[in-house]
Amino acid sequence: MTENPFFAAGPLVGGLPPYAEIREEHYLPAYERGMAEQLAEIAAITGTPGGPTFENTLVALERSGELLRRVDAVFRNQSSSDTTELLDEVEATVSPLLAAHHDAIHLDQELFARVEALHGQRAGLGLDPESLRLLERWYTAFVRSGARLGTAEQTRLRELNAELAALATTFQQNVNTATRAAALVVDTAEELAGLSEGAIAGAAENARVLGHPGRYVLSLKSPSHQPELAQLSDRSVRERLLAASLGRGVAENGPPAIRLAELRAERAALLGHPSHAAYVVADETAGTVEAVSGLLARLVEPALANARREAAELAKVAAADGIGEIAAHDWAYYSEKVRQASYQVDAAALRPYFELERVLRDGVFFAAGLAYGLTFTERPELTAHHPDARVFEVFEQDGSPLGLFIGDFHARASKRGGAWMDELVGQSGLTGRRPVVLNNLNIPRPAPGEPALLSWDEVRTMFHEFGHALHGLFSDVTYPLFAGTSVPRDFVEFPSQVNEMWMVRPEVLANYARHHETGEPLPAALVERMTAAEGFGQGYRTVEYLAATLLDWAWHTLPAGHRVADAEEFEARALAEAGIAVPAIPPRYRTPYFQHIFSSGYSAGYYAYIWSEVLDADTVEWFGGNGRSVRESGELFRRELLARGFSRDPLESFRAVVGRAPDTAPLLARRGLDQGLTVR
Ligand SMILES: [Zn+2]
Repeated sequence: MTENPFFAAGPLVGGLPPYAEIREEHYLPAYERGMAEQLAEIAAITGTPGGPTFENTLVALERSGELLRRVDAVFRNQSSSDTTELLDEVEATVSPLLAAHHDAIHLDQELFARVEALHGQRAGLGLDPESLRLLERWYTAFVRSGARLGTAEQTRLRELNAELAALATTFQQNVNTATRAAALVVDTAEELAGLSEGAIAGAAENARVLGHPGRYVLSLKSPSHQPELAQLSDRSVRERLLAASLGRGVAENGPPAIRLAELRAERAALLGHPSHAAYVVADETAGTVEAVSGLLARLVEPALANARREAAELAKVAAADGIGEIAAHDWAYYSEKVRQASYQVDAAALRPYFELERVLRDGVFFAAGLAYGLTFTERPELTAHHPDARVFEVFEQDGSPLGLFIGDFHARASKRGGAWMDELVGQSGLTGRRPVVLNNLNIPRPAPGEPALLSWDEVRTMFHEFGHALHGLFSDVTYPLFAGTSVPRDFVEFPSQVNEMWMVRPEVLANYARHHETGEPLPAALVERMTAAEGFGQGYRTVEYLAATLLDWAWHTLPAGHRVADAEEFEARALAEAGIAVPAIPPRYRTPYFQHIFSSGYSAGYYAYIWSEVLDADTVEWFGGNGRSVRESGELFRRELLARGFSRDPLESFRAVVGRAPDTAPLLARRGLDQGLTVR
């Protein structure tokens, strides 16, 4: 094997990881050496004579694990964005090793003794606010990881963490397999009536590839929604497609889900918390289970009332097709009909105005110029993780370099579903390193020579993910622990949701939404109707989101020792008890494919989206009405909030921008929940 490129001390090429040299077989050895190196660094810290100081303990901790950080950032993106069988294997091998490595550091008694001693003297150490916070956060991390437990409990904790890590990987790989296996096969093109000719041809080609020549296959989209449900006119096909989607993974993933929930409850009890949810939110901005339960409970009834009004509208249209009651598989189809009839909005008619390149440069980048003065230059000579991925250098208003942004916009078989942001290189004042951030989307690749035309939702996703990217790019902290998006989960969606506002700001929209052939601007009337039509789906969207959130909450508020016999039964009872069991509106994720909470680190955290949205809706109002220019508002938001990362209490950052504590009223208004009356 050639020299492993991860081993080189200064591996960045033009600021990027050395992608041209990285091979699949480099990851595992780099992980192994990275963990060993960090443990040696920890041993050097605990072996330092003369007692602990902030410098020889905390700063040394922050500097440790450089190689591990390097390989982990590259691998996490690669295994999500362009995976292979070998990378899947590496992931399965590495995840329990990483869990054990985390424990080896956080349960190291000598190391903890040093941190604890410094923590005890913290008021007298003369530390600046960020350094003081670093000491407090490391101390908290040790305690939350079990550093104060006795030996027997720590042994059990290590076992639990290892088993949990392995179970999460099993769960995820089961979702991938089950999603592929649950594809819907139909015999005739007539059954696919309503889909475009291109989509039907695509289903035929898909069938050929998957070994069903002469038939048609609709592969399930991951993670949740099947867009064809809005178009298929054959009700029985809609019913079969939805059943396939809702049923995937039921056979395989019930037992791992139960085991994950039970072991998490046991771990929480070991660490002194009544449930996993209590353990999790103690370190989030929400603070307590009651705070989260309270917000959720307040939203359920108004959201259901809103959804019932929507159902009545749908039923009027569906009656013409002889349908008495709207079923789950009818909802998207008749929503589309209502949108077309009541709002004269045809989703397909919008696409020609949303050409990917224009949305990116004249929309997303343009808005970042307006608010923050940024400019972007593509660097096609730089190699990223996949030939589709494009590298842009980001500059400040004065022309100085800020960092790199990588956009990987198209779907492919090797990429997981959804859209997300990653940090390949985190900003760090300690090393002087500039950030490299990355957005992955799943926009279908257009036919050769054709432009990529986006849906309204895809445009929103692009602005959303770029909001995370800005959070990473603007990071201006000393310690890597606090960089960019390393804020609590119930805060991290806030900046990205705020960035969505630019999508429909008139000055931004006018700049990017132009017909890709004629250059005509998107008619203002169409935008107004689209915005109104968006309000129409809020009832459904809020209910399906709340149902998933309450399902997460039910799994993770279980006390230790509670045994669950059957996952489906548990799910049904949990939804009924939360008052949100609506047959026509299934939860956005059912237990067997709820990856956020069983395999992706959002356990007891799915509430974070609506929790963040309180801050988001409030901030969007602030941006429009605080008397400052857009550029001045942007600067303040950047300086006081985005740049700070987790180097101070996030709610303090919020108050530094908006000037007061968050208010829920703008969120309730946006979601049509304020009076529970108006369909907006
Ligand atoms: Zn997000």
